[in-house]
Amino acid sequence: DKQKVASPRRKSGEVALAGVVGAGIMGQGIAAANLKRGVRVLLADNRPDALAAGIEGVVREASFDKATRGVSADLAIERAAMIGARPETGGLAGADVVIEAVVENADVKRQIFAEIEPHLQDDAILASNTSTIPITTLAEGLERPENFAGLHFFNPVRKMPLVEVIRGAKTSDDTIERLVAYSKKLGKTPVVVNDGPGFLVNRLLMPYMNEAALMVSEGVPIKTIDRAAKDFGMPMGPLELHDVVGLDTCLHAGRVLHAALGDRIEQAPIVAQLVEADRLGQKNGKGFYDWA
Ligand code: NAD
Repeated sequence: DKQKVASPRRKSGEVALAGVVGAGIMGQGIAAANLKRGVRVLLADNRPDALAAGIEGVVREASFDKATRGVSADLAIERAAMIGARPETGGLAGADVVIEAVVENADVKRQIFAEIEPHLQDDAILASNTSTIPITTLAEGLERPENFAGLHFFNPVRKMPLVEVIRGAKTSDDTIERLVAYSKKLGKTPVVVNDGPGFLVNRLLMPYMNEAALMVSEGVPIKTIDRAAKDFGMPMGPLELHDVVGLDTCLHAGRVLHAALGDRIEQAPIVAQLVEADRLGQKNGKGFYDWA
């Protein structure tokens, strides 16, 4: 297969070549984080337009970063020439770790794992950037569930130091250790957390965001809520955060948490209404706010 790229300088367990599936908000951020730390990246998406936009976004970010600025956009572009892999044809075969960052839907994610896993090296790690879906559920059907874990980056990846490393029921200690080392290599602060809907951070964060959305339906002005949260000390208001995360992603995540936690998280109907009206947040220019 012409698309196969061998991992360049791999010591035992170290990640030198990463694969990222899904070239959206998170896939771009994760790919850029790798390039900035000298880890080569294969980026994949099933929509050619999304892949092209994703590559542009990764190169833009990597070439303007302090770490890569000195070596200019050329290096970023040279590295980015690696990207554009097709997982279904084994295009990610040489990767030491593959991180899936597609839509928050367990069936879609499992379908992708089934396509990718047979092409991977035996000791390659497969990881999901899911926000809320239990890792043990996603591991169903895998041939090597011991090599599978959650690796949950936060948005925007360039700014957020935390990464949750999530242990599924069958994840091996070796996989967890390698993901912890890899997260550190990317300059992140890993925290190993237990499996479960929303893991640690989103279990805390989603009810907070959801209460803000409910207040909007009660007639409280959006700016009043966000301003109060910021004056309280949050870096960004909860409604602006919905727009940054993506309303569709919030909707899917809310559904997973509701299914697991029942009336402890009854999703605000306004989130589904915004998605229905094609207001997806910053990614398409409109959400709770108009961004265009
Ligand atoms: P996004 O909508 O910006 O991007 C998803 C990308 O996946 C799109 O480019 C789409 O074309 C691609 N895709 C869809 N189906 C595919 C397939 N079958 N094969 C290949 N590519 C496919 O989504 P996002 O916000 O980047 O979220 C991705 C994942 O990361 C989700 O699981 C989400 O829950 C999680 N996450 C999101 C955030 C956030 O703030 N947005 C934060 C942490 C984790």
